[in-house]
Amino acid sequence: MKILVVNAGSSSLKYQLFDMERGLMLCKGNCERIGMDGMITHKCPGREDFHATPAFPDHRAAIGYVLGLLTDRELGSIGSVAEIAAVGHRFAHGGERLRASSVLGADEIAYLESIVPINPLHGPPAISGFKACKEVMPDIPHVGVVDTSYYSGLEPHAYIYPIPYELYEKDRIRRYGFHGTSHRYVAGKAAELLGDPSAKIITCHLGNGSSITATMNGKAVDTSMGFTPQDGVPMGTRSGALDPTVVTYLMKKEGLTAEETEKLINGRSGLLGVSGVSSDCRDVREAAAKGNERAALAMKILVHHVKKIIGSFYAELNGADALVFTAGIGENDRELRKEVCADMTALGIAIDEEVNAACPRGETAELTAKGAAVRTFVIPTNEEYMIALDTLRLAAQNK
Ligand code: AMP
Repeated sequence: MKILVVNAGSSSLKYQLFDMERGLMLCKGNCERIGMDGMITHKCPGREDFHATPAFPDHRAAIGYVLGLLTDRELGSIGSVAEIAAVGHRFAHGGERLRASSVLGADEIAYLESIVPINPLHGPPAISGFKACKEVMPDIPHVGVVDTSYYSGLEPHAYIYPIPYELYEKDRIRRYGFHGTSHRYVAGKAAELLGDPSAKIITCHLGNGSSITATMNGKAVDTSMGFTPQDGVPMGTRSGALDPTVVTYLMKKEGLTAEETEKLINGRSGLLGVSGVSSDCRDVREAAAKGNERAALAMKILVHHVKKIIGSFYAELNGADALVFTAGIGENDRELRKEVCADMTALGIAIDEEVNAACPRGETAELTAKGAAVRTFVIPTNEEYMIALDTLRLAAQNK
């Protein structure tokens, strides 16, 4: 069975085609500059990458082009679109009602449209991406896999903010959590490695966006992310958690509008804001190695916050069986893993520095030092495959 996974952004549409029987990714790619001049990169393992600049006036044009590529004799890997059994769509936010992956019908889409006010950036493009795909593939199931759904089992004391309760009732202000599909995937893999589905696992998804999740019995019990993906640890350009009064003080003192303030904490903060160099961790590391003190400080702040959250989740879980690093920084930056795990022996966390330094890219590895109580892993995330697995399961039930 072939499953197509689609992740639509405001000017992009990423896709991956999977052969589920063989557990293989057949092709993947990214349509960029949708609504502008259009650009696509299409990759199939073992073949040369394909690049083109077709016109993409909208998501509909982009998905039409992608289906053309997927069925192309030379560039594709299927004979016809009819081979695609179902499409899995990534949604960042499912509000309070989309609590699990589901086949998308009119009700689900109406609900997703109703929560655009709390998901203004990611909601509209994901809905247009879905509509475009549904139009060209109307007769197969389209499944929505929602990042927030992993957090739908959080207890009220973990998701209600200590502000007037009426604001939760009226405006749905609460902690939702994000990156759930990635955390669910790597926590599931860690539970498999431990041979214990009830394990207490702390997963650190550290990339351009970063978050940490506590999982127990296969369910998330807390997340560093909040009402939006702005909370928690510092990120490429996002500040992460701040004293909320910093925001109101700045607005008053600098005369900033709400939009300007959002741009400041979302787009000009984090690694970029502190280092003044880049939002990309590799550039910040390089600058720090050359003696740039603010770059070194940016990395120290990141490590400091990651440690703090690991410690708080350890307390919340009353221990941990595993600590997992994933995503761009978590999978590749051995220095960061070393620094985060340093001086954590009181919690039973310690890694073997040689194994950490030699950890091969893109592969699962166990870093645990001899005798450490908490097992530490690097597990490459694969959100698209997780979406494909949910889509396969729901498409089979929908028959
Ligand atoms: P992601 O959002 O998961 O794609 O992760 C992007 C982040 O991973 C960027 O900050 C990259 O600089 C970082 N990253 C990728 N490779 C490395 C590496 N080898 N060392 C440090 N950071 C890396």
